[in-house]
Amino acid sequence: MLARYSDRALTPETLIERQRNPRTEPAPIDFVDLKTQQDAIRPALEQQIHRVLHHGQYILGPEVGELEQRLATFTGAQHCISVASGTEALLISLMALDIGPGDEVITTPFSFIATVEVIVLLGATPIFVDIEPDTANIDASLIEAKITDQTKAILPVSLYGQPADMDSINAIAACHGHLPVIEDAAQSFGASYQGKRSGNLSTLGCTSFFPSKPLGCYGDGGAIFTNDDRLAQTCREIRVHGQSAPYQHSRIGVGGRMDTLQAAIVLAKLPRFEHEIAQRQAVAQRYHDLLGTETPGAAPLPWPKPDRTSVFAQYTLRVQDRDRLQAQLKEQGIPSAVHYPVPLNQQPAYRHRCCPDCTPVAQQLAREVMSLPMHADLSEADQHRIVTALKAEGVLPP
Ligand SMILES: *Cc1c(COP(=O)(O)O)cnc(C)c1O
Repeated sequence: MLARYSDRALTPETLIERQRNPRTEPAPIDFVDLKTQQDAIRPALEQQIHRVLHHGQYILGPEVGELEQRLATFTGAQHCISVASGTEALLISLMALDIGPGDEVITTPFSFIATVEVIVLLGATPIFVDIEPDTANIDASLIEAKITDQTKAILPVSLYGQPADMDSINAIAACHGHLPVIEDAAQSFGASYQGKRSGNLSTLGCTSFFPSKPLGCYGDGGAIFTNDDRLAQTCREIRVHGQSAPYQHSRIGVGGRMDTLQAAIVLAKLPRFEHEIAQRQAVAQRYHDLLGTETPGAAPLPWPKPDRTSVFAQYTLRVQDRDRLQAQLKEQGIPSAVHYPVPLNQQPAYRHRCCPDCTPVAQQLAREVMSLPMHADLSEADQHRIVTALKAEGVLPP
């Protein structure tokens, strides 16, 4: 019965249009292709979705608990608490640590906005530490100088899929009254650091199942990981309005649950995930080999450090003349993206709260970084097309 639906998701209109106007130019390349993945797992997806439709437990149904168990096993963490998004995972983690007005949280200025948003929402102050030019992650050697009596947590981000230098960060935190460390692993779920999975490298780990992340759902979702029983319980309570028993609200919480349908979708994606990680790494390796160091005007960020692996949420270059390069790639049907064009401490909503010019490496990378199409099903032919376009005369500045 499921086979009927297992064709690629093309509408009749698209097919008719394609027959009328056969393409003369090569098809545009997807920056992230979720359609091929969907085709590969369609029977499992439909089974999972049907199961939820039939039992009808849309909130905290059995798939939610099953997913939490599977993800805890995957990371090696004792507890996994699924939540409504990656942002919610960060917010609930900071709330569980009682972070609020007057507190300082040390973090990176080079990330998605959610990383700093949650700190400021709770009334705490973000303290930005500059990044390493080779990983774009927080520079652990600069953290200690920023620790004060107000410091309540360190919040590194494992950007582009490569874990931050968590051992160094944990060691610094341990030396300063066992400060909690929260890893923002929204881009690095599936990566490892010295053999341990990202998300399970510190006091708390937060990830996101936003559709385009390495492990995504079909909506919003996220998860928190910890080995601390008390923190796990606190996060679970905060996730449901601070509820410790039905209609007993022992603390202030949020409506932060991940819904059952989204959990069911991640469950359907999990069996292919290890394959996808390997594919992402193979795609990244191929880019690396094809680009080499001889592409004038563009250099890939260095390969991940030997003690860690990356899931390549992004494959990122440093380029000169980025606007022109992006425009010329676009003309050839090749999308690109910038993660991120403005450091967090220079964003209009945040710059007055912190030192906007204290992180020169982040400022420089914000001017230079550009990400290429990256997903597990990117074909070798498309990668050749992308790299050829990058190397073509006139595309790159001399
Ligand atoms: C995507 C992302 C988030 C937020 O995740 P959502 O699920 O979109 O809320 C937070 N931090 C980083 C580094 C991200 O990439």
